Amino acid sequence: MKKIGVLALQGAFKEHIKIIQSLGHEAIEIRKAEQLENLDGIILPGGESTAMGKLLNDFQIKEVLVDKINNGLPVWGTCAGMILLAKELDGDEDAHLKVMDIKVRRNAYGSQLDSFVTKEVIKGISEKEIPMVFIRAPYIVDMDEKVDMLHRVDGNIVAARQKNMIATSFHPELTDDTTFHEYFINMIKEVK
Ligand code: GLN
Repeated sequence: MKKIGVLALQGAFKEHIKIIQSLGHEAIEIRKAEQLENLDGIILPGGESTAMGKLLNDFQIKEVLVDKINNGLPVWGTCAGMILLAKELDGDEDAHLKVMDIKVRRNAYGSQLDSFVTKEVIKGISEKEIPMVFIRAPYIVDMDEKVDMLHRVDGNIVAARQKNMIATSFHPELTDDTTFHEYFINMIKEVK
């Protein structure tokens, strides 16, 4: 059984907790830096990245979290979580954790395509189509060659992996498909 933290300052953390528990693992809501000790992995959920970035500072979690990730703690950022991981944000905004070599555009689909759902096979991860929910989603506009592209939708990179880090534009926790959570747990087993 793995012990997986879910950053619980803001956003869709409860949904991740439920899925992790349903897969037979321990899930912990993270609100303090001390809780980052002895985790096997951590999920940064969707929500509002500006608010989450500010709370990470206010709750003095940021530095410890960056240090843990740089030392190999498996991490998965969904949507706002992808934005938190990026080294660079498109536009003038300051990036947050700056751990993953990706450049991310926030609200990349604009207001017309604010939210949408699609179903696709993610090569190497799912054999069947899995539902992908996008809500005011970001996507990756540029990345270093150290980063592996996992999936594109309409030509835009919506999932990527760099060693112990995964970023997805979409929200597997808002569906009842557990494929991506299982992929993350397998990654934890590999990285260790
Ligand atoms: N648009 C949000 C942001 O910039 C992310 C949306 C989401 O997590 N669903 O933080």
